[in-house]
Amino acid sequence: MQAEIIAVGTEILLGQITNTNTTHIARGLAELGIDSYYQTVVGDNPKRLADAIEIAARRNDLVILSGGLGPTKDDLTKQTLAHYLNVPLVEDAAAMAVIDQYFERTGKTMTANNRIQALYPKGATPLTNHNGMAVGAFYQSPDSADFLLLPGPPREMTMMFDTEAKPKLQAAYGQQAQIYSRVLRFFGIGESRLVTDLQTLIDQQGNVTIAPYAKTNEVTLRISAQADTQEAATRALDDVETKIRAKVGDYFYGYGDDNSLAQVVINAMIAGKLSLTAAESLTAGEFQSTIGGVPGVSAIFPGGFVTYANAAKHQLVNVPQQTIDQDGVVSEATAIAMADGAREQLATDVAVSFTGVAGPDDLEGQPAGTVWIGLAYPGQATQAHQFNFAGDRQKVRQRSVMAGLDMIRR
Ligand code: ATP
Ligand code: MG
Repeated sequence: MQAEIIAVGTEILLGQITNTNTTHIARGLAELGIDSYYQTVVGDNPKRLADAIEIAARRNDLVILSGGLGPTKDDLTKQTLAHYLNVPLVEDAAAMAVIDQYFERTGKTMTANNRIQALYPKGATPLTNHNGMAVGAFYQSPDSADFLLLPGPPREMTMMFDTEAKPKLQAAYGQQAQIYSRVLRFFGIGESRLVTDLQTLIDQQGNVTIAPYAKTNEVTLRISAQADTQEAATRALDDVETKIRAKVGDYFYGYGDDNSLAQVVINAMIAGKLSLTAAESLTAGEFQSTIGGVPGVSAIFPGGFVTYANAAKHQLVNVPQQTIDQDGVVSEATAIAMADGAREQLATDVAVSFTGVAGPDDLEGQPAGTVWIGLAYPGQATQAHQFNFAGDRQKVRQRSVMAGLDMIRR
């Protein structure tokens, strides 16, 4: 079972409106398990619309048209479809009654073209428009594709599609195998490296498809399986997830479309009752601001330090002047001293520290992007790692925050 959506309207082609109708219908088709391999947009032009209908009918079992059911001269969808099907347009008495009542109630005079809105292709089932006057239609054809005609205005279209059309599609075609998806999230590995590491799995993908996409500072993989039941889908997805994690599991940190690295790390700390503080130089509070965005963080985050100048590093988190003089401010020793000092000041379990060169200029002879991140964690010696981040000042600061979160997670 395969369907194509055709959105009709020159204003869509011109970019004047966003094609939200297609998005809504596509989601509905996915819920019904109806495959959709093509989406088309065509202007209010009868010749091109006729071509689009013919092409779509040839390669699909169902063609869904939205737009152009209105009374004006540029609304040609019904007429064009009726011509293609070689059937006349007939009047829907119920829809006509609604139009008549409207003109009676408002005292306006009805022009002839308003009757057009009550017409539908003969042989179709008319679909009530609860939010407007143009009637829709579901045309089932024994020897060509089936057609669904929907109005253009989103308020009318969504109502008609959800309440009138969907139940009829389900009755006509039954529930098809549905698509179930799972989103795996990775940090610390680029999209190209991830794809390279997973190349054989991606090349061999069968029932389960693997689709990577890069987000800011992280990569996600959407794995999708088509199955009749949730259980069958879960089994297929588990199997592929295991294979993926065997290859790049080190970088995997969580699931879902909306879970950020901060959410995953902070929620784990809340669950483990591990309190956290930070001393931030180049990030100037951005790490704390980021974890502040996670609901419930107050349970483990008493506060922290922005220690931008050397004097502040000394005054707020007791970094010995000698350390800064000897090793420099962008150094392993300073990062460790900052993390230890912050943890001591607020008596937390964990502390992270950030010191580095955000750029654009060098500092202490070290190039922009050089960052030391320190971590004081229970049961292990305080450590610091050096990073060399690419990008401008903002990127270096953001990447530092993410890398700090990732160090806590590991
Ligand atoms: P009307 O009776 O209002 O003329 P219609 O069924 O003839 O309705 P169109 O004339 O094609 O539909 O579109 C009417 C309006 O509906 C458009 O100007 C636009 O604002 C909105 N619309 C049409 N198609 C879409 C679409 N695919 N996505 C979002 N909005 C749309
Ligand atoms: Mg119109």
